Amino acid sequence: MAAQLNRLPGIGKKTAQRLAYHVASMPLEDVRALSVALWEGRKAIRFCNTCGNYAAGDTCAICADSARHNGQICVVRDARDVAAIERMHEYSGLYHVLQGTLSPMNGIGPEQLRIRELVARLSAENVQEVILATNPDVEGEATASYLARLLKPMGVRCTRIAHGVPVGGDLEYTDEVTLLKAMEGRREI
Ligand code: ZN
Repeated sequence: MAAQLNRLPGIGKKTAQRLAYHVASMPLEDVRALSVALWEGRKAIRFCNTCGNYAAGDTCAICADSARHNGQICVVRDARDVAAIERMHEYSGLYHVLQGTLSPMNGIGPEQLRIRELVARLSAENVQEVILATNPDVEGEATASYLARLLKPMGVRCTRIAHGVPVGGDLEYTDEVTLLKAMEGRREI
């Protein structure tokens, strides 16, 4: 049990052991309720057919909102980044979740990411600007450059978020003000 808990992010060996002892002392019914909540919660997670964000059905709430179809698509690594940008309450366009970044070392090339789906959206949705908001780390930068080279010849404006986000930093853990400045200071690439 401790070994399984240890696999979760932020749970070290000691914490895993403490949690395991705690679970060992819980009433069996409570343990069952916890396991069922994890299992059911995970099973209910689905991804939006259009943008790849978390969704309750085939389409996420953002794609379903016609007011957000303003010609902007913000490209991010994963669905947690969508939540981070949404917390600013400033961005009013759509998203596209790549579900990863280019990482040749780990065998992740363009075909492993949701890039084909992004290209398909450009013509179908009359997109004016693609905001490349992948993390400012090596893989995030490589992914943004790759996408700019791919998309610009298709006549779409590509912008990259500014370096308000600390280099090597993670969008998800960036405070709202910094993230807002990074979005506002985005430049054409
Ligand atoms: Zn969506």
